[in-house]
Amino acid sequence: MRISKKIIFFVFSLFLFSISLFAIKNIIIDELVLTKKTPLNNEIRCYKKGNSGKNILLIGCIHGDEKAGIMLSIQVMNKIFSKNIIKNTLLCIPTANPDGNILNTRTNSHKIDINRNFPSLNWEYLDSSKLKKDKVIFWGGKQPSSEMETNFILKVDSIYNPSAIIILHQFLNCVEYDGLGQSLAEFISKQTKQELLDYIGYPTSGSIGSYFGNDKKKEIVTIEIPDNPSDSLQQNIVNALVEVIEKGY
Ligand SMILES: [Zn+2]
Repeated sequence: MRISKKIIFFVFSLFLFSISLFAIKNIIIDELVLTKKTPLNNEIRCYKKGNSGKNILLIGCIHGDEKAGIMLSIQVMNKIFSKNIIKNTLLCIPTANPDGNILNTRTNSHKIDINRNFPSLNWEYLDSSKLKKDKVIFWGGKQPSSEMETNFILKVDSIYNPSAIIILHQFLNCVEYDGLGQSLAEFISKQTKQELLDYIGYPTSGSIGSYFGNDKKKEIVTIEIPDNPSDSLQQNIVNALVEVIEKGY
């Protein structure tokens, strides 16, 4: 009898231990899922919350001098992480270009525009020495996917295959979509009261929209945040993104 009690106690302890291990594993799975050091020894981070519905990747910043989206994406994360039940799964990279953030440049530390470095069908090589001064900041590099920042996003895509990618930019004031992003963009623009566009107005070879939208047929939405955005616009953007993830669209 005493032995069987010991066995029961042992099995029960093992059960509790497994549950706590599972909980720890879940915490890890649901928070920081991927990190990578940049050439300037900063870190790009991808966080995750949830395991259901659509995988939605939110990128707060890709151009280093467009920083407004970093804070907004962190606010979205804070709200989503505090919820117990969410319809969709959030993947969030608050900034994909921390080196550019510190240098306050559109490009990364190699002077390459990450949003022109994706291996899209429309990627084109440009001789940087022949580019006009105002076009140098749009240089996509000597070859696509040459930059670790680009590869970080490609790796997140290869692991989690998000069906929708929402990316925050400045300094226009609109919501624009590529690929299958129309209904998501409509939903967001209605809430943020920003103009809805199906074309940003200039070609973007090697961009996230070109690669994941046009080539891979995902839902891609760009939210352009103006310089000095009002508090209400910032709040509307955060609320719209939280609703997209928490309740769907
Ligand atoms: Zn931008």
